[in-house]
Amino acid sequence: MFKWFKKQLDKIGSPTLDWVQVEVTTHCNGACIYCPHTLMKNRWTGKQMPIDLFHKLLPFLKYTDMVYLQGWGEPLLNNDIFEMIRICKDQGKCVGFTTNGMLLTEDTIRKLVDLELDIIGISLAGTTATTHNQIRKGTDFNKLISNLELLCKIKTERKTHAPAVHLAYLMLRSNFHELKEILPLAKRVGAKQIVAGNLTLIVDPKLSAEAIFNDTKQINYYNSILKEIKDKAAIENIIFDYHGPGLDDASLRCRENILHACVINVKGEVVPCVLIDPVLCENREPGDRNAPCYIFKGQSFPIRGISFGNIRNESLTHIWNKKEYSEFREFFNPNITRSPEQILPEMPQCCVTCYKRLGA
Ligand code: SF4
Ligand code: SF4
Repeated sequence: MFKWFKKQLDKIGSPTLDWVQVEVTTHCNGACIYCPHTLMKNRWTGKQMPIDLFHKLLPFLKYTDMVYLQGWGEPLLNNDIFEMIRICKDQGKCVGFTTNGMLLTEDTIRKLVDLELDIIGISLAGTTATTHNQIRKGTDFNKLISNLELLCKIKTERKTHAPAVHLAYLMLRSNFHELKEILPLAKRVGAKQIVAGNLTLIVDPKLSAEAIFNDTKQINYYNSILKEIKDKAAIENIIFDYHGPGLDDASLRCRENILHACVINVKGEVVPCVLIDPVLCENREPGDRNAPCYIFKGQSFPIRGISFGNIRNESLTHIWNKKEYSEFREFFNPNITRSPEQILPEMPQCCVTCYKRLGA
């Protein structure tokens, strides 16, 4: 009786989400120079989301049409990834993930096409092998492109457009000049969508200068190039989105979709965004008492993990409706009538000192 009552209660106030992001692994075969995975490698302990935990998600899939299997790791390193995709597809969901592309063998590609995966995001940090490989260490640009060409070939053979290829280009000062070549590359690999994003979690102080929003004298130059690429992309019927490059200190519009999406991390914890995923700060080197830090506007801040509950023992509806989670989301409510001067002192420090809040 109690269980039935709890189920009915859960139906009331259940969220409608644009997507649920699920961190299926925190293992990675890459060593990108800017990634916390690489920079904290001495304290990082990789974890896999077990399939029994993934099954706990099933009742919550009805809250969303889209499941994105992504976190701090390479999704294809979870041995159950195909089963996870199948479970979501059986429920009629749109499914995607982003990969570094190194594990896209012919066999894997055929399985993904058979499963009718909807989106495959590809991470890039250059449009030449020299630049990309220098930044995304442990990955190989030429191998990535030939894997994507194989994907194109197999999709043509099977007469399908799925999975759609989306390119995720990390803009840095040292690779920005190569972004101009992204459209020919997108056409070559059949990508119809490109997102140019920023380095927003800066763990290594030496990389601060690489973030293009910190290159304030050149913002007009970056803007004009990005607009030019967007216009050219539109002619080619390719969607080109970009973040920034200018920052707005008073902004309360976080780049993440806090109000209509959530992240479920590798342990089942419900987290508003990956930048405050507790996996980033839970591991310490022996004898290391300090939390890992990140750099914001030249100052160092401890990385903070925030979780509002765990799907292992609570329903997503219950977690979503907790007072503290509702209050967290309220800071980003666009209909809020209070001014940034009133809100910012109340906002968690990790969001105040976050480049994504500023529009990056
Ligand atoms: S492939 Fe992704 S998770 Fe792996 S090191 Fe690179 S950025 Fe980090
Ligand atoms: S402001 Fe930053 S830390 Fe806060 S929710 Fe947005 S992305 Fe996450």
